Amino acid sequence: MIKTRVTEMLGISHPVIQGGMQWVGRAEMTSAVSNAGGLGVLTALTQPSPEDLLKEIARCREMTDNPFAVNLTILPTIKPVPYADYISAIIDSGIKIVETAGRNPEPFLPAMKAAGIKIIHKCTSLRHSLKAERIGCDMVSVDGFECAGHPGEDDVTNLILLPLAAQRLKIPIIASGGFGDGRGLVAALALGADAINMGTRFMVTQEAPIHEKVKQAMVAASELDTSLIYRSLKNTARVFKNSVALKVLEIEEQEGPTDFDDIAPLVKGTKGRELFEQGELDRGIWSAGMVIGLINDIPTCKDLIERIVNDAEEIIKQRLGNLVSA
Ligand code: NAD
Repeated sequence: MIKTRVTEMLGISHPVIQGGMQWVGRAEMTSAVSNAGGLGVLTALTQPSPEDLLKEIARCREMTDNPFAVNLTILPTIKPVPYADYISAIIDSGIKIVETAGRNPEPFLPAMKAAGIKIIHKCTSLRHSLKAERIGCDMVSVDGFECAGHPGEDDVTNLILLPLAAQRLKIPIIASGGFGDGRGLVAALALGADAINMGTRFMVTQEAPIHEKVKQAMVAASELDTSLIYRSLKNTARVFKNSVALKVLEIEEQEGPTDFDDIAPLVKGTKGRELFEQGELDRGIWSAGMVIGLINDIPTCKDLIERIVNDAEEIIKQRLGNLVSA
């Protein structure tokens, strides 16, 4: 067992947290991670309305007795999102752990804190992490440049971001982006984090509610098979390098400012959802991190978490222990 401030604060057995993934963070995924002793995370915006989110939380409770969280991402969207109503639903549901991502969550903090919710804010820079601590977040999840989805615009990897955060923050840090095995967990702990957050790695598990073909494509892919799109719009996202991602890059490279309207039909989230459901790999885009280069199998969440923690323990006790005593 590896005990850290994060396992203690969240009441979980292992320092492994599931990333908040659009269309993937459903009850099947979340409960599988929580039942395996990690922290599963439902993605609020995967549900079309706050009422549907309440139903999904109830469904997840039927599937696990262990703690799980809800992720709320506040980034540009094609259709306006009633964020305050999602927050009210989360509070009404009795959820006690929330991961916020994207914009500053300050306006929503008083209501969540009053409800006894622990808030993990996902940050892609040291300055945002310091701000999150200052406004009262309980933990930060530090997202390095390796990550899937939105890495921010600074392009700093976790080898630098994590020790910087560890030097400057008092609240616990979760290392996010690039993690998928025991070596990564040990590295994260050594760099000053109290847990790892994995999105891409959990997509390639038996329980992830996405088509087998998507999982197989990720197993076959290397660390070079991701693309950074929306750079020209300052909303950078790391996605799987398929023909649609390459088409988006082509549009972005055209002379003059990029018009999101030229890209929207290719990238809209509903196409990503269909891609996951039907396994049609060039239907839209999907988030994937550089860690796909380290993914070679499709285990259950339980087997994956056990392997990561066992490998990490072995590395700490044997390899690292022996180095010190040698
Ligand atoms: P969507 O269908 O509304 O938009 C599709 C993509 O286009 C998203 O990445 C969105 O950020 C981007 N986008 C929308 N309007 C934009 C604009 N005006 N300028 C630049 N980019 C714009 O989104 P969705 O796929 O239904 O996802 C819902 C939310 O979840 C979005 O905020 C999205 O960013 C977020 N998300 C996060 C991750 C992650 O890895 N953190 C992954 C997928 C989606």
